[in-house]
Amino acid sequence: MQKHTISTSDSLFQRAQELLPGGVNSPVRAFKAVGGHPIFMKSAKGAYLTDEDNNRYVDMINSWGPMILGHAPDFIEEAIREALPNSFSFGAPTRREVEMAELIIDMVPSVEKVRMVNSGTEATMSAIRVARGFTGRDKIIKFEGCYHGHGDSFLISAGSGAITLGVPDSPGVTKGVAQDTITVAFNDLEAVKTAVDLAKNQVAAIIIEPVVGNMGLVPPAEGFLQGLRDLCTKEGIVLIFDEVMTGFRLSRGGAQELFGVMPDMTTMGKIIGGGMPVGAYGGRREIMDFVAPAGPVYQAGTLSGNPIAMAAGLAMLRHLNENAATLYPELNRISDKMVNGMKANLQELGLNYTINQVGSMFSIFFTPQPVTDFTSAKTSDLTLFGKYFNSMLQKGIYLAPSQYETLFVSTAISDAVADEYLAANRAALAEIHHL
Ligand code: PMP
Repeated sequence: MQKHTISTSDSLFQRAQELLPGGVNSPVRAFKAVGGHPIFMKSAKGAYLTDEDNNRYVDMINSWGPMILGHAPDFIEEAIREALPNSFSFGAPTRREVEMAELIIDMVPSVEKVRMVNSGTEATMSAIRVARGFTGRDKIIKFEGCYHGHGDSFLISAGSGAITLGVPDSPGVTKGVAQDTITVAFNDLEAVKTAVDLAKNQVAAIIIEPVVGNMGLVPPAEGFLQGLRDLCTKEGIVLIFDEVMTGFRLSRGGAQELFGVMPDMTTMGKIIGGGMPVGAYGGRREIMDFVAPAGPVYQAGTLSGNPIAMAAGLAMLRHLNENAATLYPELNRISDKMVNGMKANLQELGLNYTINQVGSMFSIFFTPQPVTDFTSAKTSDLTLFGKYFNSMLQKGIYLAPSQYETLFVSTAISDAVADEYLAANRAALAEIHHL
């Protein structure tokens, strides 16, 4: 396999390191966990990324989830072009925000009212503030290895880049904030019940990634989400599903529709902006009516509901809504083909590793153990992961540069691209095991 030349990326990274902390604007992008230097991207279309040295890669990250249709679909480009001549920001209400809210409420089963923000982080930070205001309680429960953005309350046993870089409990979070975050093992309902008992009438919210993407892909155990729902109802706790990754991906209505479990609040991001910086939080009407100016819990945003971002997001959601009946089954079919092909590759090579999948999200863990929570996720051999990542990159496949991330399949991945991926997967597995 031909070795890529990445001299332009390397020289850009050298400059960037003098100018930006670690040379990047978001930590995992620096490739620290896998060695080597990050690749600087120039353009992308459909299933492929092109870097500054004109190398082409099959994209298995898709901007960490948003590009579910692959890169730059023509109709989203057109929607942005159409919005542009009317100016790029008003800081006043617009028609598109109303249309966006109608669509989100129609698509996401538990959402009755919604507030647009600019990122997933803003959505989760705001949602817990509202849950605290609504219940009059201070504490929240989160799960070890789940990532909910970089709000102070969530940087306790955090997954994603926080664990990749060895800082699950970030310095800079005050003791006061940290003591209001209780962490529990994912999939351990008994531990959640114990935690709730120990903090009787103090827990405002339980926040969870209903399918975890941020410690690698970890599905919920049978009955776990329903168990949380029942517990929250009994104890007057606000159940928040963080669907920043799973929303509009695992089904038209996200994980809550897929598993048939309704949270009180939902946080959204990624796909909702069609690639533009958009987030949202929503939920039951009585809870959302606590948000200013309807209620007393303050939350605001100069660029919230930005017209260009709304144009892209609306085009994306309309497309998913209108094509849901065929689009999700087809996305899942191609994802199943990739996962089954990887399992066949492992078997043929006599290797025993764990692959977790829910729909178009999946991860390989370099451990023979089942991965059901953060402790088992950490049994993966990270050195082997790093070798695998770099071998795949050399073969033109762009994976998430950390074990503690999921891959995201896009509808732009055709059978031929899936075959290209599987051939690279087999060759990389053989290469790193000297087979
Ligand atoms: N929640 C989840 C589940 C996420 O995966 C992420 C980001 N990967 C966030 C929240 C934060 O979103 P953002 O990066 O847009 O702030």
